[in-house]
Amino acid sequence: MISIQFLGAAGTVTGSKHLTRFDGKEMLVDCGLFQGAKEWRERNWQPLPVPAKSIDWLVLTHAHLDHVGFLPRIYSEGFRNPVICTPATDDLTRIVLPDSGHLQEEEAEFANKKGYSKHKQALPLYTYEQAVQSLNLLTTRPFHETFSVGSGTGRYLRAGHILGSGFFEFSYGGRKILFSGDLGRIRRDPEDQGDPQIPEPVFEADYLLLESTYGNRLHSKDDPRPKISEILYRTQQSGGSVVIPAFAVERTEKLIFMIKKLMETGKAPRLPVFIDSPMAVEAVKAFVKHCEEYDAATRRVVAKYGDPSDWPGFTFCKTREESMAINDVKGPHVIISASGMLTGGRVLHHLARRLGDPRCTVLFVGFQAPGSRGQLMQAGGKSVRMFGKEFGIQCHVETLDQFSDHADYEEIIEWLKNFKHPPRRTFLVHGEPAGAEALRELIVKTFKWDVHIAKYLETVELE
Ligand SMILES: [Zn+2]
Repeated sequence: MISIQFLGAAGTVTGSKHLTRFDGKEMLVDCGLFQGAKEWRERNWQPLPVPAKSIDWLVLTHAHLDHVGFLPRIYSEGFRNPVICTPATDDLTRIVLPDSGHLQEEEAEFANKKGYSKHKQALPLYTYEQAVQSLNLLTTRPFHETFSVGSGTGRYLRAGHILGSGFFEFSYGGRKILFSGDLGRIRRDPEDQGDPQIPEPVFEADYLLLESTYGNRLHSKDDPRPKISEILYRTQQSGGSVVIPAFAVERTEKLIFMIKKLMETGKAPRLPVFIDSPMAVEAVKAFVKHCEEYDAATRRVVAKYGDPSDWPGFTFCKTREESMAINDVKGPHVIISASGMLTGGRVLHHLARRLGDPRCTVLFVGFQAPGSRGQLMQAGGKSVRMFGKEFGIQCHVETLDQFSDHADYEEIIEWLKNFKHPPRRTFLVHGEPAGAEALRELIVKTFKWDVHIAKYLETVELE
């Protein structure tokens, strides 16, 4: 007898937590933070239906906060059992969790200063120290190696979503359950011919938990590189700068590998590039260390040009002083800095100096939430509010939406075509209601499978 209870990423795209019960044991697959709308964020404060102490294993699919960011919280509630992940997920988790702890403390401090907390004293969801302590529980398993989880066995397969991301295949009592985690894009880089397909094909599972973030949307599939070249040449001519707001893990690395290759092949001018984020400095190290596990394009760039920390013309800014030194740079240049959605971080300081300058460009490469500063700028806003002031916008505002790390519905269907028999049941998770419903209809229409949309806190029994 085995059951799964959906403690998150059901009815929403964040807070992934799938509590799997078998043999009187409890295995949690992913331990994500709820993010975004307040209604969901408040659930980070609600107790889990099981005491954290009684969870026997935590299995992580990848290092995004909506899959790993709740680990320090269960640690603070007494969870001390193994946290299983791939080696690259281990490295990235060590970068993102302490930062998250730091942010949680900052948020609580800010709420107390402003006095807007409903509680007398706002407390952090967890502290930096608890985040650091929780890392001691991490234990790694390489891709494709079978390992035991109680009387069941598990195995990671490559999901191609971010560095280290895996599908988790769990076998118990003659049944196989596949947890997709987040499913990556089907890569179509023509130079990748002959390399193993990523995300890797899966041929069978009795039960499938499948993400549905882009269940009703398609990505534009044209090549982003010509546009990047054009912007860099324009900036070279104008003498301005390009500011690219980007998340420090994965998106920043993808960009610098792409920009480096464009420069080396004569398709972009060699402008100085500043990567202004302490997290990115660490994340790049993880990418170089694990580039064998990553896609072929990255592997080739590292093999040819070496470690990005040594690339001439690319400067990684870790300290505040290094960040401020960018202000003294004369002539055209590129700045890649977080946060990707302009919610905070160093990127705001760079924007404050450049939004009013028609020689400059702000290039968005990630999703901008409705109502966010980024989305206002994309919609042609004339000004944006930062640091309590309005800043007029005279610079170019450009968007490239090809960088998503999630498969869209066409790519999901393409990946599902690998299945040799229909799963007994497919559960859709990690989607807004409209996305999940559209994907359910599409899978039923295409394959006639039995598809169920997971509901928050619902338990399903698997035969
Ligand atoms: Zn993810």
